[in-house]
Order: sequence, then structure tokens, then C-alpha cells
Amino acid sequence: ILARGRDVCRRNGLLILSVLSVIVGCLLGFFLRTRHLSPQEISYFQFPGELLMRMLKMMILPLVVSSLMSGLASLDAKTSSRLGVLTVAYYLWTTFMAVIVGIFMVSIIHPGSAAQKETTEQSGKPIMSSADALLDLIRNMFPANLVEATFKQYRTKTTPVVKSPKVAPEEAPPRRILIYGVQEENGSHVQNFALDMTPPPEVVYKSEPGTSDGMNVLGIVFFSATMGIMLGRMGDSGAPLVSFCQCLNESVMKIVAVAVWYFPFGIVFLIAGKILEMDDPRAVGKKLGFYSVTVVCGLVLHGLFILPLLYFFITKKNPIVFIRGILQALLIALATSSSSATLPITFKCLLENNHIDRRIARFVLPVGATINMDGTALYEAVAAIFIAQVNNYELDFGQIITISITATAASIGAAGIPQAGLVTMVIVLTSVGLPTDDITLIIAVDWALDRFRTMINVLGDALAAGIMAHICRKDFARDTGTEKLLPCET
Ligand code: ASP
Repeated sequence: ILARGRDVCRRNGLLILSVLSVIVGCLLGFFLRTRHLSPQEISYFQFPGELLMRMLKMMILPLVVSSLMSGLASLDAKTSSRLGVLTVAYYLWTTFMAVIVGIFMVSIIHPGSAAQKETTEQSGKPIMSSADALLDLIRNMFPANLVEATFKQYRTKTTPVVKSPKVAPEEAPPRRILIYGVQEENGSHVQNFALDMTPPPEVVYKSEPGTSDGMNVLGIVFFSATMGIMLGRMGDSGAPLVSFCQCLNESVMKIVAVAVWYFPFGIVFLIAGKILEMDDPRAVGKKLGFYSVTVVCGLVLHGLFILPLLYFFITKKNPIVFIRGILQALLIALATSSSSATLPITFKCLLENNHIDRRIARFVLPVGATINMDGTALYEAVAAIFIAQVNNYELDFGQIITISITATAASIGAAGIPQAGLVTMVIVLTSVGLPTDDITLIIAVDWALDRFRTMINVLGDALAAGIMAHICRKDFARDTGTEKLLPCET
């Protein structure tokens, strides 16, 4: 038994350490909350976790560019277009299914009843219109400046402009009328009433170009995929660049293989640091407990039942074995709340544990980390309907359909970074006229729910790679491409 135990530990050492680090991080975080550390002390404490995030982010750019360029260049035109169409269709389909699961859960649990507002007044200011958000998504696919795209994305800025009403001078009402009145009550006293006759100024919203921090991953994915396809068509003359990308890809994966040994240590501080920062869980739990339970139940239903069943029906393989292979990536997703930052580990798990063809992983994973976010889509649908319930706002069937379409689009537009879904929620809320200000209602629990939805986003990408590897196995057996010729990967 001892020998067997040693063998299990040796083969799964890193995974066991990662699981332990999540548990230790939670315990340490809750213990240190009782010590009331100052913000300065908390920021020092979070330093090892910050280092983990920086290491992972450092690898995103070379990994996405090199994997897409080398992956697509090594496939023939027929195989790459078949893989591309199938992958994107699968991503859209599963995201839409996630939204349906979210709508189903929020309709039966009805968490909004527990947090209903007294007034039905809608205070929402348009932060950004749905049309602007959709155009931004398309603009980001075509970055005007590739260097800028590595650290900034395009985001329309909406600013209020106050317009004084246009009134002809002769028609202008007196600015102010004062009415003096006497009120007799408990003795007598004089009371002045002022009536403002000036028409209120009109506030209009103006959209202007702007940028926001954070890599424009969508633009980089789109550019690299196009370059990869073109390199593949160039044949021998494109081979040096393809070879360069393959070597770059391999070397990043070698850095990942070393860096993973730091991750369990970083995870402890990342999780404990976040627990130290959070609001009082009892107060938040009372108001948003049902909402959080709805989101988590939806994520569990989609991630642990629907997606694995789909994997099983398509591949006839055991989904539990597959999920065990990517457990470490799921833990990193839980710790970092970022599917882009988790990408290097997802690659490592899929290649080493699940033995997925690297040409498939190189295409399916970076595209998935950018556009396939089942967890985010599910959460956006639940959050929008929750906000409607809180405001006592009856949604009709047409509005539910609008929510499902916009939640799918918003999840595609969300970047694979922490709490990106909260930003793109605006698209969903404005599409059915819900108050965007009410996003503040759910902020208190968003950091925690973000971790769970990121796990489902990563799980969805990994299972998609498994399914694509199965569906396209014949194409890949036939198409050896330039892959075998390059010395770097043999
Ligand atoms: N944090 C999520 C991710 O990286 C995106 C989101 O839903 O906020 O996948």
C-alpha cells in the first residue's frame, strides 16, 4: 500500500500540492481576517500571489501567437477550415446551451424575491449602448495597431453632455417665482416657497473612441490565425517562420513546466489575499445568498453534467478521466479568475495528461479562451434576470430571447481576465432596458462567482479540444503537414 501511495504521490504530486494550496489558502485567509491586517500589510501579503499572476500573464502573448500561427500553418486548407468551422459552431452551441441552463435555474429558484427593492424606479444611465458594445467587439477583431493591441483594447467611452434647452428669449419663462405664504400651525410662522420654472437641462450621451487597459486578445487571436492560415498556404517559403513559431511555442511550454512548481505556493497567497479583502460574508450572504446559489447550481449543472455528457455521447470516452487530466488547470482557473492566464496550464494538461493532438490544442484552446465562455454567458443571463426580479420587472418571452442572444454575444466579447463579464453585462441589461446601475448590487459576490465561472470556461475549452480531436481524428491521421519535418518538436 505504501509503495502504491508513493507512486500516486509521485505521479500526481503537483496536483496534490495544488489541491492542498487551495485548502490552505482558504484557511489562512479566514484565520488572518480575525487579525485585522492593515491595507498595507494585506498588499505585502498578496505579493507572492501577484507574482503568480504576472508569470502567467507574461506567457499569454507568446503562447497565443506561436500556437495559432504554427498550429494553423501546419494544417492543409481543408483541414483547417473544417476544424475552424466545427470549433466555432460547437462553441456557439454550447454557450447558448449554458445560457438556457442559466435562464432555467434563475426562473425556478427566483433569487430576486429575496432581495427585492421597494421602488420600481429605474435609475440606469446608459454607460454604453448595445450597438456600441457590438461594434467594439468587431473593432477589436481588427486592431489598428498591433503593438497597442498587446496592452490595450478599444472601448467606446460614453460621456454625458448637458444641453441647455433651446427657448426663444420672448418665450423664456421667468427663471424663478417666489411665493410667500403664511402657515399657521402651533403658533404662526412665515414660510417661503420657491418654484423653479427653468426647464431642466437635457442630458444626452456622446460616444467617443477610447481604449481600456488589458490585452486585446481577440485582435491578436484573429491576426495570428489569419497569419497561420496564410503561412500554411505559402508552403516552403513560409517554413522558416512556422519553424520559429513552433520553437517559440515549445520554449514557452518549457518555461511553464518549470513555473508550475511555484504555482501551489502562489495559489495560497492569491486565495488568502482575496479572502482578506472581501466584504463581511454574513451581510453579503443574506442579500445575495440565493443569487450566488443560483449561479453556482447553474454552473454545476452545465459543467458537471451537460458538457461531460456531450463529451461522452460524441467521443464514447469517459469524461471523468478527461476532467481528472485537466484538474490542475481548473485549480489555476479557480485561483486566478482568468482563462487567458490559465491557458499555459490548460495546454500542458491537455498535451501531457490527455494526449490531445497538439495541432488541435493550438487552435482550439486560444480561440476558446477568447470567445468560448459558457460560465460567463450563464452568469450574465442569471444576473440580468435577477436584476429584473429585484426591480419587480416582468420580462416577456421576446425579452428572454433577447437576453439569451445578448448574453451569448457579451460572453464572446468578454476578455479572459478577472471580472470581465461584469463589464460586458451592460450589453445584456441595456438590450432589455434594465438599469445598468444595478450591476453594483452584485459586485460584492462577483469576485467569488468569477472564479467558478472561469473554471467552467476553462473546462468548456478543454472538453471542446477533446471533442474536436475525436471528430477530426481522420483528417489529422491523413494530414501530417509540415509538422513532422520540423526538428524543433521531434
Ligand atoms: N474571468 C472570466 C474568465 O477569465 C471572465 C469573466 O466572466 O469575467 O474566463
